[in-house]
Amino acid sequence: MKNISKLKLVITGCVMLTGMAACTNQNGTSTTATKTDSATDSLQRYVNDRIGIYEKVKLTTNLNELTPKEREILPLLIQAAQIMDELFWKQAYPKRDSLLSTIKDEKTRSFLTINYGPWDRLNGDKPFIAGIGAKPDAASFYPPGMTKEELEKSDVKDKMGLYSVIQRDSTGKLVSVPYHILYASELQKASNLLKQAALLAEDAGFKNYLNLRADALVSDNYTASDYAWMDMKTNNLDIIIGPIENYEDKLFNARASYEAYVLVKDKVWSKRLAKYVSMLPQLQEGLPVDAKYKKEKPGTDSELNAYDVIYYAGDCNAGSKTIAVNLPNDEIIQQKKGTRRSQLKNAMKAKFDKILIPIANELIDKDQLQYVNFDSFFSNVMFHEVAHGLGIKQTVTGKGFVKEALQEQYSWLEEGKADVLGLYMVTGLLKKGELEGDLKSFYTTYMAGILRSVRFGAASAHGKANMQCFNFFKEQGAFVRNANGTYKVDFAKFETAMNGLSKLIITLQGNGDKAAVEKTQKEKAVISAELQADLNRLTEKGIPVDIVFEQGVDVLGVK
Ligand SMILES: [Zn+2]
Repeated sequence: MKNISKLKLVITGCVMLTGMAACTNQNGTSTTATKTDSATDSLQRYVNDRIGIYEKVKLTTNLNELTPKEREILPLLIQAAQIMDELFWKQAYPKRDSLLSTIKDEKTRSFLTINYGPWDRLNGDKPFIAGIGAKPDAASFYPPGMTKEELEKSDVKDKMGLYSVIQRDSTGKLVSVPYHILYASELQKASNLLKQAALLAEDAGFKNYLNLRADALVSDNYTASDYAWMDMKTNNLDIIIGPIENYEDKLFNARASYEAYVLVKDKVWSKRLAKYVSMLPQLQEGLPVDAKYKKEKPGTDSELNAYDVIYYAGDCNAGSKTIAVNLPNDEIIQQKKGTRRSQLKNAMKAKFDKILIPIANELIDKDQLQYVNFDSFFSNVMFHEVAHGLGIKQTVTGKGFVKEALQEQYSWLEEGKADVLGLYMVTGLLKKGELEGDLKSFYTTYMAGILRSVRFGAASAHGKANMQCFNFFKEQGAFVRNANGTYKVDFAKFETAMNGLSKLIITLQGNGDKAAVEKTQKEKAVISAELQADLNRLTEKGIPVDIVFEQGVDVLGVK
């Protein structure tokens, strides 16, 4: 939303909080256990409950739109993606196989696989296997027991490296090991697959990107391939592949996790999106914030495209599933070239139909339900992604990039920024007549979207961002809660609250004051008891929280 984000959007990623009572499971798995129940029985019931929060969705696309060569390329891309999936397991939870070998219960095995480890990613990373402790913030990026201070004081060269892990040598000294050495054999295989795909590729830009990305995987030098990816314009297929987001590194938000998306362009929808990119500088100038926070010029070389995703692997498949992607994350490339915003339309539609509509039916005021529609949802998600490119990347206080200044507090605030500035853009474009639709639909659908995303919980950057938004908007009277537990938008106050929150977040980012962001998170990014009770109604009704995918060459019908 990740920043390239993933909208794990609206959707994505995770920073962790412990002890958030508001986000713990409400099914009373431990409090109702009788004395004869072992901890294992209680966890089994927990898994049985929680696996139901996922709705299965098949990832397909219209293969008739592709050339025979493109159909031949897809299985190669999928195999390369599957290698990224294995690498992400190594990063997030390298003991997968030994743990799975001890588990017979199918639901537990499946829940572990969905979560890429024995912690419930959509419930504050609660451990769901007996004897497993809290999820380590370090994942396998840092050695067990290493403190932040120890690394900060050490003389390791690549302390905050994107593409290396920190380990201890035989004397206990901290050293960094580059990914291309640590994972050499897997990366070589993935690289070979991309080279094979490049041989088949008919689009010159795509061919060039595949070749450069293949080189990048085995060298950890992604810059040339990122530029080639931005220069590619006429491709029908795409693969986003490599170590990209840093949500999984909860110690520093520094090191990148492997992932891949295999994508097929939706040309009709892509055309609809193309025109908004040229409007970015104008939208930047209009931001509701003091002048010093909006001096940066957003790139206009950015692209907005819609795709069907046919394969998710690794980080983007863990936790809440990404439905829009804004990349590359490299700030220097962003400033020179802008970003590519990829809207993952089939996944978005699946979330809208299977999750957002049922939530709206339960929680949105019945007279306003008519305003909830897919076009508004699609636009809100799309403008969330565009909004990652707006605002401020460099602090105004001499603290360097916002991302570096805010460290582990960066992701959630950035996701909150993208949500609210996305809405700001929708509002502005509607008023200018550049966007079709009814403001009431955008606002009501946004409200339903907040209620959807707060369910991701405090372990998710998007969850926290939406909690902050909910609380801020509530204080501003942007919506009221009816006595029957439904929410009614006040359209005029919604806009005022949107401007207020935009200003607050950009100012926090521009100041680069990490302590202030932490304070905001503790005070505002929380779920009240009343909201939790309303969210519990969704759980009681069995409304899914997220989707999981049936995917691959068989599902797609290629081989
Ligand atoms: Zn985002």
